[in-house]
Amino acid sequence: MDFSFSEEQLMLRDLARKFAENEMRPILQEYEKERRTPVHLTKKLADLGLLGAHLPKEYGGSGLDYLSCAIIWEELSKISWTMALGTLGHAVLSGTILSAVATDEQKKKYLEPLCRGELMFATATVEPNAGSDATSIECSAKLNDGCWLLNGTKNFVTGGGLADYLLVLAQTDKKLGTKGMVLLLVDSKSDGISFEDVRLVGGRTSDIVNLAFSDCKVPADNLIGKVGRGLHGAFHGIDTARVFITAGALGMTQGCLDSCLKYVTEREQFGKAIGGFQLVQEVIARMAAEIAPLRWQLYYAADLKDQGKPHGKELSTAKWLASELAVKSAAEAIRLHGAYGCTDEYDLEHHHRDAVLSTILGGTSEMHKLMIGRELIGINAMT
Ligand SMILES: Cc1cc2nc3c(=O)[nH]c(=O)nc-3n(C[C@H](O)[C@H](O)[C@H](O)COP(=O)(O)OP(=O)(O)OC[C@H]3O[C@@H](n4cnc5c(N)ncnc54)[C@H](O)[C@@H]3O)c2cc1C
Repeated sequence: MDFSFSEEQLMLRDLARKFAENEMRPILQEYEKERRTPVHLTKKLADLGLLGAHLPKEYGGSGLDYLSCAIIWEELSKISWTMALGTLGHAVLSGTILSAVATDEQKKKYLEPLCRGELMFATATVEPNAGSDATSIECSAKLNDGCWLLNGTKNFVTGGGLADYLLVLAQTDKKLGTKGMVLLLVDSKSDGISFEDVRLVGGRTSDIVNLAFSDCKVPADNLIGKVGRGLHGAFHGIDTARVFITAGALGMTQGCLDSCLKYVTEREQFGKAIGGFQLVQEVIARMAAEIAPLRWQLYYAADLKDQGKPHGKELSTAKWLASELAVKSAAEAIRLHGAYGCTDEYDLEHHHRDAVLSTILGGTSEMHKLMIGRELIGINAMT
């Protein structure tokens, strides 16, 4: 068992750290205030090989292992997890699905420009009546005259308003249940699609939209994977996204801790630095003690995934606890910074808004507890 990073991993950590400091930090407040996604960063990340970091080299990716990707995402998310999501998230979710189930021809056509930062994608699975329970989607796809006819609604689609292509999970025949589901690649400029901006509590530098499809025609060739395997394909993407979301949650916590470590030595009250008070040290010590084992838990899960071994329980444990820790750490860090922590002078206020989102996407904390329970006990409490 080797606990040290390789030379390449150390180099990637530095690269991501410098990118976050030099490219993300200077524009963060402006984009947060304007609720805009800095799409120009996507191309810059692509040029550094960080966009398709985990995607296969033969289709333009960097072919990195998941542990290296976790290291990169933690660094970017120390500044802003949401900005990482807005600029790289499509490569994680849509890129993984395309890489896992598309044909070679489709991979060449779509994955290569994705990795070069030339085409954006978004994946739409969730609907008004189908959130955690993806098996109950209603968006329908009917083959008609060489085209799929798409009708229905999709909610909370990250990057949906910026995407060139939408990867949509749809139902061909409700009677078949999950065996009737398909993934369709929809040109976002097609007729029959309407977009509605969604304003969340956080996530201000990643675009989120609701989509409505009304007799939207999708060429039959744009089927991604096989009929009846749509949900399976979507789960490929969601499983991989969990590694990145968890690393992002750890990044937010580490960002909060770093800010506290600096502030408590500078801020003086009652004639001394507040870091000299035992109650303040307890908060810092606990935050550091809580993040360390979760980081190793994520690395363990990522390593299992890299080896192609079962990793569901291990990754769910990391995702659930790291996202909850980010929520707690952001609130505690703000408290340690007093009223100054509530201002946009520090990164804490956007971490506070963003952290809660990390407990929901990629499966809510409750879903992860149920998945751990199912694996340990052997009974599925979700049905
Ligand atoms: C920032 C962000 C980005 C997102 N991006 C995308 C995207 O790109 N594409 C996409 O398709 N979706 C996206 N989503 C949607 C996300 O996947 C869903 O919000 C998530 O799956 C939960 O679904 P829901 O919001 O409908 O909540 P629900 O499933 O309605 O859950 C509501 C509450 O009930 C609990 N609950 C549900 N069932 C059970 C149960 N059996 N036992 C115990 N508790 C239960 C949940 O844990 C939760 O607390 C995004 C969401 C966010 C916040």
